[in-house]
Amino acid sequence: MALEAADPGAQAVPVRVRFSPSPTGNPHVGMIRTALFNWAFARHHQGTFVFRIEDTDAARDSESSYTALVDSLRWLGLTWDEGPGVGGPFGPYRQSERGEIYGRIAAQLLAAGHAYECFCTPEELEADRDRAKAEHRAPGYGRTCRHLTQDQITAHRVANRSSVLRFAMPDHDITWDDLVRGPVTFRPEFVPDYVIMRANGDPLYPLVNPADDALMDITHVLRGEDLLSSTPRQIAMHAALADIGVGSGVSPRFGHLPYVMGQGNRKLSKRDPESSLLMYRELGFLPEGLLNYLALLGWSPGDDQEFFSLQQMAEWFDISRVNASPARFDVKKATAINADWIRHLQPSELNERLLPYLQESGLVSNPPTGQEQAVLEQALPLVAERLEVLTQAVDMLAFLLVDDEAFAIADDQWEFLDDAATATLTAALISLASLSTWTAADIQASLRAALVEDMGLKPKHAFTPLRIAITGRRVSPPLFESMEILGRNVCVARLTAAANR
Ligand code: GLU
Repeated sequence: MALEAADPGAQAVPVRVRFSPSPTGNPHVGMIRTALFNWAFARHHQGTFVFRIEDTDAARDSESSYTALVDSLRWLGLTWDEGPGVGGPFGPYRQSERGEIYGRIAAQLLAAGHAYECFCTPEELEADRDRAKAEHRAPGYGRTCRHLTQDQITAHRVANRSSVLRFAMPDHDITWDDLVRGPVTFRPEFVPDYVIMRANGDPLYPLVNPADDALMDITHVLRGEDLLSSTPRQIAMHAALADIGVGSGVSPRFGHLPYVMGQGNRKLSKRDPESSLLMYRELGFLPEGLLNYLALLGWSPGDDQEFFSLQQMAEWFDISRVNASPARFDVKKATAINADWIRHLQPSELNERLLPYLQESGLVSNPPTGQEQAVLEQALPLVAERLEVLTQAVDMLAFLLVDDEAFAIADDQWEFLDDAATATLTAALISLASLSTWTAADIQASLRAALVEDMGLKPKHAFTPLRIAITGRRVSPPLFESMEILGRNVCVARLTAAANR
């Protein structure tokens, strides 16, 4: 193939890449990995990141899926230079608005002999496939209609047969130097002539995708390995487009990102719950944490470095370091990286990130009251180290934020509040009553003296009933600091209520 773009980074041709999802279903992590790698490649080469929506399949595409995609990229901070909401010189960027362009190109391809009308019925195509199978040939269209005479075409029309448009593949090997996999060759018998336009005039992916890549001056196509088999068709299409004067005449270079594997060594599928991007957002992943993890699906900056920002990724991203072998999606590792990111947030930043989740759960008003804000400022340092995802804070902090009526000891905790526990709680109340200051250190000293030293209890036995009474459960943020935050009155009320049960 003579048409090759310049090497990545070569100054002569500015890098232009695109993320071109079809808006079907919810955004999934594999898709976002593709967006991320394109984004990083563009940013690394000071190029342009185009966001194009491939919504030519009205039966499968949906507006809600489109909105979710746009919203997700925004949430993640993967900013695009051209595309929906931003515009650009090659718009519109939604293929559903470009029908006229594809119609014109299809007509040109037909006129130039790069495409032909195919009148075969589904039954004839089926018989074709059966014949190929019986003769041990690669299955695929047998080119029945490729060389019809004008008379034959007229006869089909008179017989009211409808026709699709097929692309006429060249009869030679198609080879390209894949940016990830190195040289790849497809023999012509494995790339049959394919349909580019339906009988009703709807243009199909094999036409619209390369046509837009050509029209939008895309220099590099980075996409999932599942699309590898469409690349020889598209390379042939780029040659045909160049021939009819569409685009710059230079085919983009292709790089196929490795498969993302899910559990049980299967490809991660859209249907696997752990592939849903929205789920990670709902759980309270930070965009930074999720993107950091997705970056590691097939790429690494080297030196075992696994914690880095989007900006660092852009700086370091080198497509030649993308690994061709499948990457395993590991929710545990994603969570651990996210926890790392949470630990690195400044307290005020953590506060801000948590607010939407706390407000959603009803624990904090919108905007927060002064009292709520004060509790959060004191409480966040107690939990920041333990959070893996932001929603965990809702659970951990609820006992500090709910009002007295809403506070409840979990049902399964009452069994730990036996008679001995009641005695402990009563002793604690007496000891706390004589405390003149209410700080975590004073509370701890007073309780330790009364329960451990005077009563001779083991610390675990001394403090578990208190923890249940104050926080509602046996596992909680640090007890004495929590008591300081809650204040004397609330603590006395909770201890009394538990002792009276
Ligand atoms: N719309 C195609 C998809 O979502 C894009 C394929 C490509 O990147 O070329 O699979």
